[in-house]
Amino acid sequence: MCYAIPAKLVEIDGRYGIVDYFGERRKILLDEDEVAIGDYLFAQGGVFVKKIPDEEAEEILDTWKDIFFELKKVDQSLSKIDKDKVSENVLAVLQKVNHRKSLKLEELKTLFSMKDPKELSVLYEVANHVRERSHGNACCVHGIIEFSNYCNNNCHYCGIRKDRDIPRFRMSEDEIVAIAKEAVDVHGFKALVLQSGEDFHFDTDALIRIVTRVRALGTLVFVSVGMRSRETYEKLWKAGARGVLMRFESSNEECFNTLRPGTSFRARIALLEELRKMGYVIATGFILGLPGETLDDVINNILLTKQLGPDMYSFGPLIPTKGTPLENEKMPTVEDVLKVTAVARLNDANANILVTTALETMSKEARKEGMMAGANSMMINLTPSGCKAMYSIYDDRAGVEDEVSSAIGEAVDLLTSLGRAPTDIGIARGV
Ligand code: SAH
Ligand code: SF4
Repeated sequence: MCYAIPAKLVEIDGRYGIVDYFGERRKILLDEDEVAIGDYLFAQGGVFVKKIPDEEAEEILDTWKDIFFELKKVDQSLSKIDKDKVSENVLAVLQKVNHRKSLKLEELKTLFSMKDPKELSVLYEVANHVRERSHGNACCVHGIIEFSNYCNNNCHYCGIRKDRDIPRFRMSEDEIVAIAKEAVDVHGFKALVLQSGEDFHFDTDALIRIVTRVRALGTLVFVSVGMRSRETYEKLWKAGARGVLMRFESSNEECFNTLRPGTSFRARIALLEELRKMGYVIATGFILGLPGETLDDVINNILLTKQLGPDMYSFGPLIPTKGTPLENEKMPTVEDVLKVTAVARLNDANANILVTTALETMSKEARKEGMMAGANSMMINLTPSGCKAMYSIYDDRAGVEDEVSSAIGEAVDLLTSLGRAPTDIGIARGV
């Protein structure tokens, strides 16, 4: 059975459409494909993926109906708030959030000043409640394929930086497409991220060929290949790419320019803005815990992410990695990351917030904690284990040993235990 929920198209307004999932409505980008009101389709991350024949859709919906409402009940019972545990000033800020008012800088600081574990648990509960209110129990799960660890850059934090002496790999185009095909046909993924270092061996034409072939499999394609020209991204859009995962890494210009030698903060932000104008769904964010980081930097990171208007927040802790200039830096704590997750959610109710692998690397429970502190999305790594081990952007990455099917099984179990439904995602599970 397919573990994605088909949506019914109920309205069309130019390039956009409104779809319905068991009474919950969402806006999606329709793409150029021909669709009519009443059609069933799969959508992912707010973008149309493909049409589904009525009979097939109705069969899937029939199997899903009861499970969906069961999951919803679990999610709603888990997203209750225990207000008795917080101080007056924190409660005032949280109440403001509850009344859908936006927060001022000082109020964001108040949230960050919370240290008492009981108070923090309320912060996470409120963030989880806000997540539930805006997204219901919908959860996005994307697959990611890391296809080359060659990189032209020397980012100080990164374990695959050019100057680090490590074994390198590059997949062939056929290998990339074969992994994507298995992800779509066998596991039912509806959105795939194709990621690499800045490896210009894959020139524009090569990327176009890969995107075209992967899109033809019937999945939404995100690219995460770093700084390429505007023309390249325009051509990739024409080839069928609809999403870009590119973090701005740090809102502190000086920090960015120091840690990413030879690259520029302004060029990266300008490119992210261009990409959004081109119509791309953007996933962006920052690394938490870079050297010299202040509370203002952390808050500015959250504010800049929102300002860039992404569909998805992607931020995670710095994992100091041997053989990089940041090997002796201090790693943030799980609590630091959860606080940022919760505050980001309170500051932007509508965004999708990803739990990143870097957080999972810190502790086994962290992914669940992140999902209970405001996050609503996750990624499953589909890179075969040999290449995954070499794609060592940081040390001891979580799940390097996992087979794809067990990683999917774990994700599905986690989602089920939290009452989350993959409303517009696709991961397959045999029943
Ligand atoms: N080359 C592309 C995509 C691959 S790197 C790019 O740079 O955009 C993907 C992400 O890994 C980076 O955006 C960075 O935020 C993260 N990363 C790299 N090294 C890291 C480390 N040591 N700890 C935490 N995140 C790291
Ligand atoms: Fe290359 Fe990206 Fe790593 Fe920087 S972060 S060294 S661009 S892979």
